[in-house]
Parts: sequence; structure tokens; C-alpha cells
Amino acid sequence: MFKALVMEQGEDGLASSAIKELSEADLPQGDVTVAVEYSTVNYKDGLCLSPKGGGLVRNYPHVPGIDFAGTVESSEDARYKPGDKVVLTGWRVGEVHWGGYGQKARVKADWLVPLPEGLSTKQAMAVGTAGFTSMLSVMALEDHGVSPDKGPVLVTGAAGGVGSVAVGILANLGYEVAGVTGRPETEGYLKSLGVSQIVPREDLNETVKRPLESETWAGCIDAVGGEMLARVLGQMKYGGSVAAVGLAGGAGLPATVIPFLLRGVNLLGIDSVMRPYEDRLRAWERIAKDLPMDKLEAMVKPATLSDLPQLGADILKGQVQGRVVVDVN
Ligand code: NDP
Repeated sequence: MFKALVMEQGEDGLASSAIKELSEADLPQGDVTVAVEYSTVNYKDGLCLSPKGGGLVRNYPHVPGIDFAGTVESSEDARYKPGDKVVLTGWRVGEVHWGGYGQKARVKADWLVPLPEGLSTKQAMAVGTAGFTSMLSVMALEDHGVSPDKGPVLVTGAAGGVGSVAVGILANLGYEVAGVTGRPETEGYLKSLGVSQIVPREDLNETVKRPLESETWAGCIDAVGGEMLARVLGQMKYGGSVAAVGLAGGAGLPATVIPFLLRGVNLLGIDSVMRPYEDRLRAWERIAKDLPMDKLEAMVKPATLSDLPQLGADILKGQVQGRVVVDVN
């Protein structure tokens, strides 16, 4: 038997969660069974933990948790054997397939990556889906010619999970980093991670009035979307690139095409869920190399399974700072 946070639907159709004892026979099909050590709380976890499952959860009972790290307990796949340390992000685990909010998980071997050398399972989940996606974004900017000598890089939603890890990586790589935040009280935290300029959220959340503003940013990692992304596009330097990661501020994009046509701005879509295996390995290797572990530590708050309902609600309100690591045991 093992413990898991299980969501069940009430008669009103709304789901709520409780910690339950499950047996291995309850686990979904898959070829690798993992003894989970740590999971995390990402924005999408907040959606999955909400009463309507954020439109992502299809069937109940459900075990959420879109990422986890742990040790292989049994495997029917030649690539993994008992005792191997593994990490999982993406593949709609925690949404349509049971996820990491339990002491055991059973998944497809194709969805796993070996724990990156130099990281513990706890550190891998301090990074989690949010931080993994931050690194994918940094790599996309690099692939499009953004480098520290080209000018400052803007990170929106800077005090959140994606934002904090992005700031830590960019500052360590030598970029001048500006961070947009709606929480002035996080200024000290953001500066400790490497932000040199704080941009108040209200400076950027007004609708685009002029399609082009002064050329300010060589790159941007955007976790917010909506009006903020539209404004940022008009502030990019000639040939600059924006990695569109998230929608914490809205899924719309009330922009004009002028920044693309007159300044050659690139809008780069970042998906972490269906990323091919080789990209995943490359991103995790870069994380182990380019994200300073002392900065990662400064972003992390510990939690347990019983904290998850509250943390899920908090992250949807933009009230979680940095990253949360959930010890499921
Ligand atoms: P967090 O809640 O930790 O971070 C989001 C941050 O955005 C908040 O901390 C806040 O930062 C800012 N924010 C929140 N609400 C608003 C608002 N209404 N207007 C402007 N800013 C706002 O979430 P995550 O870091 O886990 O995820 C961030 C986004 O990235 C989410 O939309 C998520 O779905 C997406 N994502 C996408 C992935 C992909 O594969 N493309 C993978 C992982 C995440 P502050 O207080 O500093 O302003």
C-alpha cells in the first residue's frame, strides 16, 4: 500500500482531493513503476487540482502531479532497471494519466529521462517542469542569436517558477536581466537571483497603443502572455526574440504584426510537454551546468502532500514565489 493525493468528483460534478491509501493494482498501465521521492507545484498543477480540473483532467478518481523524480522499482523496459534514478515531466502525466502526487507512479518508459548527472532527485524537482521549460526558452533564444552582448533580456512573471529559474540561468550566463513583477515585495528576492532592473507589472499591462515603442530588449522569456506579451513585442530590439512560454496573464494576444515586419522580431513558441527525448537530455544537461545550485536553493519552499490543495489555489492567484518541492513520503 502507498499514499497518494486522490481527486474524486462529487455529485455536483466538482472534484476535491484527499490523501488515500492505494495498492499497486490501482496504478494505471505502464512499463515502469517508480518509487516517487519528490514532485512539485506548477501552474498547470494548480489547474488540475481545481474543482473542474482546469479542463485538463478527463477522468476521476485522479492522481495529479505533472512531474516527479524518484527511483525505478520495477521495469518491463530494457532501458530502465530497479534502482535507476529517473525524472518525468510532460506527456500529459498528471492530466490524463496519473501523476506524481503519490509515493508510486507507473508510466511509459518513453516518458522518462535518467536523472541528470550532478542533480539529486530533490534538485531535479526544484527545477521541475517550470525550470525545465525556462531552460528550453533560454536555448531557443540562443538558437535565434540572442547573446549577452546583444542587450538586456526581459523575464515576465519573474517571481514565479518559470520566471525565477529563467532569471537564475540568464544571470549566470552573463545576461543583463530585467524582471517584470506585480509583487514589489519580491524585489530583494529577484535581485538576489540576478535581476538588475525591476519592471513593475502595471508598466506593461495596458493595451498596445503604439505598435512600436523604443527598442529595449534583445530577448524575452514570457510566462504571462496577453497584453503584456503584446506590449513586449513592440519593445524588442531589431532582430530580437521572445520565447512565449505561458499564459498566467491571459491566453489572448492583442498585438499588431508591425514588430515582426519592421523589426524582424521573432516570436518563439515553447512547448515542454511533447518535447523529443534528445531535446530533453540536452536541456537537463544545460540545467546541471548553467543553473547555480545555491540560487536554485534560494527559490525553493518545501511542502508535503497535505499542503497541495492550498498551494494549487495559491499558484493560480499568482501567489507562489519561486518553486515548491513536494516531499511525497
Ligand atoms: P507561477 O504562478 O509560478 O508563475 C507565474 C507568474 O506570472 C506569477 O508568479 C506572477 O509573477 C505572474 N502573474 C500571475 N498572474 C498574472 C497576471 N494576471 N498578470 C501578469 N502577471 C501575472 O507559474 P509557473 O511559473 O509554473 O508557470 C508560468 C506559466 O508558464 C503558466 O501559464 C504555465 O502554464 C506556463 N508553462 C508553460 C509550459 C510550456 O510547456 N509551454 C511549461 C511550464 C509552464 P509576479 O508576481 O512576479 O508578477
